[in-house]
Amino acid sequence: MITKTKNNCIKINHTKRCILCGLNTASDTPVCHECLADLPWIGTACQRCANPTVTGKLSRVICPTCQKKPPPFDQVIAPFEYRFPVDQLIQLAKFNGQAHLLNSLAELLSLQLQDKTMPELIIPVPLHQKRLQERQYNQAALLAKKIARNLDIPFNNRLLIKTENTPHQAELDRKARRKNLRNSFHCIGSPPVSVAVVDDVMTTGTTAAEISRVLKAAGCQKVYIWIIARTAKELHLF
Ligand SMILES: [Zn+2]
Ligand SMILES: [Zn+2]
Repeated sequence: MITKTKNNCIKINHTKRCILCGLNTASDTPVCHECLADLPWIGTACQRCANPTVTGKLSRVICPTCQKKPPPFDQVIAPFEYRFPVDQLIQLAKFNGQAHLLNSLAELLSLQLQDKTMPELIIPVPLHQKRLQERQYNQAALLAKKIARNLDIPFNNRLLIKTENTPHQAELDRKARRKNLRNSFHCIGSPPVSVAVVDDVMTTGTTAAEISRVLKAAGCQKVYIWIIARTAKELHLF
């Protein structure tokens, strides 16, 4: 709404609309208070891989998969389970050209990061050059950039590159996913001691595990995985 003040200056009141219900909202978040409460927040989850299928009331619980064989990443932060309406927001942002929704999703993820250990650098999960040309933007890079700005942490889009244009992970079984990604990511230069890798969704964790392995082989000591949503299926990291 645009109004005029006493001395005739134009004053713009940015009335925000909730991205889900479309109603005006006084909330600081892109989603109104009512819709925020209805989102599929992950409650109790594994402290390492954020697996929401973990049950129990302990605040620091590690799931059996991570206990048996700790993954190469140190911590996954995921505010949501990958289901309605978060799944649809991500799909719209990724494939329907509604990239502006990524800003809202980044805001929601930033809320979850406020009391967490901060890395020295934020990077996105890279897209292969060919895939980038097809889609025109890397949703992970847009998310990572926005989060880096919110948190005032350096962002780097070139430290990690994807050199193999591998088939979509969704089309492959567990063993094939691992093989598919092996040696497809490369770290250019030396990473700092701690890095957060940003992506939209984590399904099996194979990509996150492979990237963490590459970063650690290049000298990084702590790798955090920051994602918007995570499937509740059992993880197959190895
Ligand atoms: Zn709403
Ligand atoms: Zn776990």
